[in-house]
Order: sequence, then C-alpha cells, then structure tokens
Amino acid sequence: MATKLIDERRIKVLNDRSPDDTNAYVLYWMQHSQRAERNEALEFAIGRANEHGAPLCVGFGLTEDYPEGSLRHFQFMLEGLAETAEAIQRRGACFVLRLGSPDQVAIDLAKEAIEVVTDRGYLRHHRQWRESVAKEIAVRLTQVECDLIVPVETASTKREYAARTIRSKIEELSDEFLHQLRTTPVDRECQCGPHGESLDDIDRLLKQMKIDQSVDALDWIVGGTSAARKRLKHFIEDRLTGYERERSDPLAAHVSTLSPYLHFGMISPVDVAIAVRDARQRRTSDIDSYLEELIVRRELAHNFTHYARADYDQFSCLPDWAIETLQDHRDDERPTIYTANELEHSQTDDEIWNAAMTEVRERGYLHNQLRMYWGKRFLEWTNTPEYAYRTLLSLNNKYFLDGRDANSFANVGWVFGLHDRAFGERPIFGKVRYLSKDGIEKKFDSEAYVAQLD
Ligand SMILES: Cc1cc2nc3c(=O)[nH]c(=O)nc-3n(C[C@H](O)[C@H](O)[C@H](O)COP(=O)(O)OP(=O)(O)OC[C@H]3O[C@@H](n4cnc5c(N)ncnc54)[C@H](O)[C@@H]3O)c2cc1C
Repeated sequence: MATKLIDERRIKVLNDRSPDDTNAYVLYWMQHSQRAERNEALEFAIGRANEHGAPLCVGFGLTEDYPEGSLRHFQFMLEGLAETAEAIQRRGACFVLRLGSPDQVAIDLAKEAIEVVTDRGYLRHHRQWRESVAKEIAVRLTQVECDLIVPVETASTKREYAARTIRSKIEELSDEFLHQLRTTPVDRECQCGPHGESLDDIDRLLKQMKIDQSVDALDWIVGGTSAARKRLKHFIEDRLTGYERERSDPLAAHVSTLSPYLHFGMISPVDVAIAVRDARQRRTSDIDSYLEELIVRRELAHNFTHYARADYDQFSCLPDWAIETLQDHRDDERPTIYTANELEHSQTDDEIWNAAMTEVRERGYLHNQLRMYWGKRFLEWTNTPEYAYRTLLSLNNKYFLDGRDANSFANVGWVFGLHDRAFGERPIFGKVRYLSKDGIEKKFDSEAYVAQLD
C-alpha cells in the first residue's frame, strides 16, 4: 500500500505566534499518543525540525495528580513510555520526561523551543492543558490529531445522537484516512537534550511518585507498542474468525483486548483498522463487526466527550427522555440496596455480578457483554439514578486499565440511555434498556464463568 503524508484535516494551529529560529530545538510535547510508530504528531514535528535545520526534543509531562490515576494505570503507562523513549532516541531525537503538570512541563520546555507540536486529547483536562500552553508560550503551537481514524470535527460538526446518526458520516470518510503513513528521517540528531527523569527503573520512579498505590498493578498485561502489536497479531490469527458470532460470549474470548493500548495511545487505531481490514481469508462479517466497534462506536464516544464539553461526566449528560423516565421511576422500590463498599467488594446476592466485579478489581478488564450486565444492575441496587451513575463511573475509572477514556464516559452513559433508544416501560428503569439475569445466562455458560473467578 502506498504511503502518504499527514492529512491536513488532522492539523490545527492553536495560537497566533511565529516560530523563533534563535532557539535550540523543535519540541513535540507528547501527551496522548504515547508511541514512536504511526504517530502523525511525531512525523509532523520531525518535518518541522528538519525544515528549521534543528534537532527534535520530545517532552512528556508526568503528573501525579492525573484524575483517578493509580499505580495500575501509571505502571502500564510507564512500561509503554520506556519503550517509546528508546524508539524515539533510536530515531535521533531526544526524549525528556519530567514530573509535573503536563501544561507546565510543556511551557518550561517551550522556553528553548523554535516551535511546539502536540497531539490531541478529548477530555476536559486535555483541552485545558492545550489551551494554557497555547496562551503561555512565545512560539507557535500546532496540534496534530492522531488517535482517531476520522478527526473528530471532520466526522461531525455536532453532538451525535447514536451510532446510526454518525455511522454513514464516518463510513463515507474512513477510507480517506486508512493509509500507511510516510516516515521522515531525522536530519539533525539531538545530542544532549534537556534533563529529565530516567525510565530505566520504573519501579523506583513509581515508588517515588505520590500516587494512589491502593489499586494493584497488573501482571497479565504489559504496556507498550510491541505488546500491543503482539496482541493485534494474535487476535487476527486466532480470534478474528468468529468475532461477529461469538462476541457476546465472554468465555469464547473473541476479543482483541486492545482497549488499554488505544487508551494510552500505544497503538494507532489506523494501524489496527488497516491490519484487520486487510486480514486474509477472514469473513467480511467478522471484519465489519470489529470495525464497527473500533471505528463507529469508539469514534461516537469521542464525538460525545468532544461536544458534550461541560458535562460528559455528569448525570445531566444523558438525553432528556432518559432523565425524564428515570425521574418518573426514581421512587420505585428497589429489590435490595447495597452500599458502594458492598458493591465494590462483590457482596451482592448475584454470583455472576460478583464474579464480574471481582474481575474488574483484579484484572482491570471485563468482556463487553459482562460490562453491560455489570453496569445495568447499579440502577436496581442504589437509591437514586444519579448515585447509581456516579458509583458506576467511579468504579469503572478506578479499576479498568482502559478507564478514564472517552469510551468510559460514553458507555457508562449508555447504561442510563445515552446513544440508545427507548424501550417498553418497566419499574426502576422506566424506558431505559433493561438486561435481565436470565438474559445474560442464556448468552454463555455463566456457571463456568463464576467457577473461573472463584
Ligand atoms: C458499562 C460499560 C463500561 C465500559 N467502559 C469502558 C472503558 O472504560 N473504556 C473502554 O475503552 N471501553 C469501555 N467500554 C466499552 C467496551 O466494553 C470496551 O471497549 C471493550 O470491552 C474493550 O475490550 P476489547 O479491546 O477486547 O474490545 P474488542 O471487542 O476487541 O473491540 C475493539 C475495540 O473497539 C472499541 N470498542 C469495543 N466496544 C466498544 C463500545 N461499546 N464502545 C466504544 N468502543 C468500543 C474499543 O476501543 C476496543 O478496544 C464499556 C462498556 C460498558 C457497557
């Protein structure tokens, strides 16, 4: 497949300053796209550095205060960053990681920068960091969007209602963005960049950081681009066939487990989509079904956090019909009320749910079918829909390795009616879609699942 340059629609200048050639290097302030491969922002920054005849410095701000971050998330991220740092240095740029608020780290490194390039994030604090850097630095800041197939504002100029309203817009455009990216060699090697923290000993760095140590790190999954590529290869070879039919069976495990890697930008969704689309001797229905999740559903979630700016993490983000029907049923009697602590520690009378909650806590991952069932029961077991929403979102983001993502906010919202339609009215749920225990038991061998987690 022919390689192409970066599509102009991914690029946006965020302030009106000019480059300053008297400075030392071009800075790529990396935050969201934590990879050295298929990274449009990195390639763009190399191009700018070559044009200025200057070296490239890649800077990363590691904040201990990242919202809802814990040891589990930081360890996975640092494993990936250690690999990325090495790969960037092999390409002839330097990599500097500093502890501090990402915007402040970028502002400090920008004092010596000719110009600054960054990638794009889709949550409130990601936008605020970029706004603050654009305002504070004396040179140009350019954003290059690397973690969606179709850039968010190109796909749609408004908040979409559901997959059915964004699907045709994305499908019409996605082929234009599914191409290999031309890589640019670094002309002038960076000899000695600014000082930063070493990534040689991640455990030491993690111990020295003031972070929530209460959520254990994971040993079944390791961060980084090469681990992501290995998982993608395994998925295409062994799990893609049957994806469409078996994807509702958690035990069949026809899933890619790529969501944590996509969350930390360790692999490009474009690379994943191309590899799956071009997989040989695979059924079109399996390929289409996977691309529906990876492209349409994932990009719908990013549309949501991008356009529902103020309240994508609040109960008020739900559609009016859902809020109305949940309020109509707010006083309906609940079968049992559990405290947040009982829920978090799998102390309910539902053995499937308890096993799922245990998997969430211990593995930081759950199959989509179980996530749906796990999420839905919060409404039945808490006093109010608002409290159910808050408790679910907080456990989702505390334990999932892929938590705190646009997908987290959109899918927790989905439990309460977001991006969905109204169904027949029933107690507690009103017109919001209900998933029964009987229904989930018919989908897979739940006894075997529970036994596995015992
Ligand atoms: C209550 C609830 C909470 C969820 N919380 C999260 C979360 O915190 N983070 C997260 O990334 N996903 C979340 N999801 C969506 C989905 O369950 C996960 O993305 C998926 O299970 C990840 O596993 P995988 O990579 O093996 O998926 P695969 O089946 O291999 O899918 C490939 C990719 O498609 C995307 N995808 C799959 N399903 C969805 C979906 N429903 N919406 C958007 N994108 C999707 C993901 O990026 C995923 O990595 C949640 C779903 C529910 C119902």
